[in-house]
Amino acid sequence: MITVSEALSRILDLAATMPPETVPIASAAGRVLADSVRARRDQPPFRTSAMDGYAVRGEDAVARTELRVIGTSAAGHGFSGTVGAGEAIRIFTGAPVPAGADRVVIQEDVTRDGNLVTLRGELDSSTHVRPVGSDFRVGTEITAPRRLRPSDLALLASMNVDRVAVAKRPTVALISTGDELVMPGGTPGPDQIVASNAFGLKAMLEDQGARARILPIARDDVACLRTAFELAEGADLVVTIGGASVGDHDLVASVTEELGMELSFLKIAMRPGKPVMAGRLAGHAMIGLPGNPVSSLVCCHVFMLPLIRAMLGLERGPAQRYRAPLSRGIGPNGPREHYMRARLSGDGIAPFDRQDSGLLTVLGQANALLIRPVGDGPREAGESVDYIPI
Ligand code: AMP
Ligand code: MG
Repeated sequence: MITVSEALSRILDLAATMPPETVPIASAAGRVLADSVRARRDQPPFRTSAMDGYAVRGEDAVARTELRVIGTSAAGHGFSGTVGAGEAIRIFTGAPVPAGADRVVIQEDVTRDGNLVTLRGELDSSTHVRPVGSDFRVGTEITAPRRLRPSDLALLASMNVDRVAVAKRPTVALISTGDELVMPGGTPGPDQIVASNAFGLKAMLEDQGARARILPIARDDVACLRTAFELAEGADLVVTIGGASVGDHDLVASVTEELGMELSFLKIAMRPGKPVMAGRLAGHAMIGLPGNPVSSLVCCHVFMLPLIRAMLGLERGPAQRYRAPLSRGIGPNGPREHYMRARLSGDGIAPFDRQDSGLLTVLGQANALLIRPVGDGPREAGESVDYIPI
């Protein structure tokens, strides 16, 4: 058995970075930028009014001054002349500030009578002029790798960049194994249950930027499992669910060995999730997850999402950990790193009493995995512990 961090580092060694593809920015949300991008223009490209009001020379912005309105500057329709002494231009938000003017007096600070405006007794001190390039300049960079957020897409558009190179989505083949399994919507026999894990895994993987394919359930026999691996061909990552421990019906290790897998490891000192294996099969990464539903989803948080992030060109490291105080005391931990289903609230974090790795309802109520290091002693309420948000 190896430690969780050793297992993760060996799994990350299996990560090949995905090649880039070019996509329109309208389809780039959540994708990972593969090549840095530079702005093709200044923003704003001209001095812009930040308010509706009157553009004037700074020295004319004096209380109770009377100015003559000689034209209009609206968004998309600037004023081509120059503002002279004693003159003002009616101006609107987003319009170019005309030559000669360097200040906008907001419309609330004037009274207008025909072509004349009189400035109020008290003016605010701001110029309300946005300088050229005050948001960004030609050449301002958005640096890869970066997961593109909505604000990035708006910024790219503003830079006049309409297509970007992003990392291709890694494809993941999900193979559920077990004679006891039927697909949701099927009719389970008396000794059967409904396969659940692949659906949770698919959602998590796709949320992280992968594309997951749920393959037909492989029965617990060698021929079926071989066929499943054939169907998985071409995937960047092949994941089996179940059949990974050492029971008579646990065939994943022997079939992958027969198919020539270079094994990285077979077991991890972890709760839940001891029987996790990984290796390289036909040039791609392969991970064998435990069948217990909570184990497989916890292992996805701890190993597979970091693997997907590395394949997308993002950081090669563990899931981000945070710290929170315990809202109640907890007992000592044993010889395996424990990822306890827990609830984080304003009072702190507390693990659920029921930690059986089959309990999907408990996982559903959890919003954090509380991490207990190997051999950690008992902890009292108020002590800080590590957790991963889920
Ligand atoms: P195994 O790792 O194959 O020994 O499976 C461990 C436990 O997880 C057994 O109770 C299986 O019935 C259950 N299990 C295995 N695969 C799945 C699955 N895809 N969905 C739900 N439960 C599963
Ligand atoms: Mg099984």
